[in-house]
Order: sequence, then C-alpha cells, then structure tokens
Amino acid sequence: MQLQQLLFSQGFGTRHECAGMAVHGQVTIQGRVCTDPYEEFEPEGLVFEVDGQAWPYCDKALVLLHKPTGYECSLKPKHHPSVLSLLPGPLRVRGLQPVGRLDEDTTGLLLLTDDGALIHRLTHPKRKVPKIYEATLKHPMDEAARQQLLSGVVLNDDPEPIQAQGAELIEPTLLRLTLTGGRYHQVKRMVAAVGNRVEALHRSGFGRQTIPDGLAPGQWCWIQPSDL
Ligand code: URA
Repeated sequence: MQLQQLLFSQGFGTRHECAGMAVHGQVTIQGRVCTDPYEEFEPEGLVFEVDGQAWPYCDKALVLLHKPTGYECSLKPKHHPSVLSLLPGPLRVRGLQPVGRLDEDTTGLLLLTDDGALIHRLTHPKRKVPKIYEATLKHPMDEAARQQLLSGVVLNDDPEPIQAQGAELIEPTLLRLTLTGGRYHQVKRMVAAVGNRVEALHRSGFGRQTIPDGLAPGQWCWIQPSDL
C-alpha cells in the first residue's frame, strides 16, 4: 500500500494532506523518515510514527477508553462533551463509535470501534457478553435485596423480570453487579427496583477485558477483539 493511502486509511486527513505529511518528514517507519508518499509498504502488522507518536496499522480500530464523568456517549451530545473528544483526531475521523453506552455520570470501561460487525457481536442480547459494574449505594443492601436482583426484578418498560448474573456485596453500600443485558439505565433501575439508589457507578469489566492498570480516567489504549 502506498504511504499516502496508508495514512489516509488510518484517518490522517485527505490523500493530499497525507502526502504532505510524508513530504514534510513527519512520518517515520522502522526508524527511517519516509518522505516519498508513493513508497509501498505491507500494512499488516506495521507500526508507523507520525510526529513521533506510534500508530499500529489496523483495518478496523478497537480502543478501550477509561471514561470519566462529565462526558456523553452520544455522537451528538446535548449537555456535555462527547467521549469522542477524548480520542485523537485520526480515530475521530475514522468514525469510531461507542459499543453500547454509559451514562454521563458513569465512569469506567468503554469500548469504541469502527467495526460494525464487532459492535453487533458485542451488544446482541443473544451473545450474553457479561459487563461488570461497581455501584455505590445510598443505603446498605440486605441479603433479601441482593437475592432479588439475582432472581429477577421487573422494570417499568417490560413486564418480563430481568436478572443479574452476579450480585456481590463488597461492602454494605458497594455492590458488584454482573449483567448480560444492556437496557437503558439498567443498573440504576434494577437497584431502584429493590428500594435502593445508585450514588456512583463504575464499569470495571466487559467480557474478559478489564481496565489496564495505570490507565487513568480520560486515557485510552488499543486492544484486540480477542482480548474480549
Ligand atoms: N446501567 C446504568 O444505569 N447506567 C450506565 O451507565 C450503565 C448501566
């Protein structure tokens, strides 16, 4: 693949802008500054640098963002900035989308990708991909309420009871909930259905993936679909 096409495919601007970046010496591959926009490279497995920052070539991008509070998952946010504003320009240009949504005031693990088939696989209810949440509760939770979350609660938009796959009390007011569904405000509504209230919510796991150590709120990293 020609260098300008490679940069274009990864979201670095128009073909013309990408050619300009090469000509201006902004692109380094395997320790060599590559100024010829038409030089050919095998893209698979290639790591290239633009202005000193390393980028792995990827046909489809998948990143993990440690979402802070105060950001909306919507692509057209209403009251707060979009989570996309936390990603670098090339990833925004590629049209990454959140895999499911976290509320504006929820923190934690958010996946973003431009792979529509992967979004479908990860969010389809039949796949039952587990998501792990840590909910700080207003009131201590008793054993009866914990059991009720596991056996099923009815939410106001569906007569079918909905169950948590796991409900563990880490402390009387700290609940770890495992859910395979992705209904609107699901954790907050399930907790409200057993007479309590979520004061703070954090997602710590999605499939097998957890937030890598040291990845602070607002930071992101690359991951592979197989990590999930
Ligand atoms: N459930 C909620 O209530 N909020 C979230 O952000 C995610 C799951």
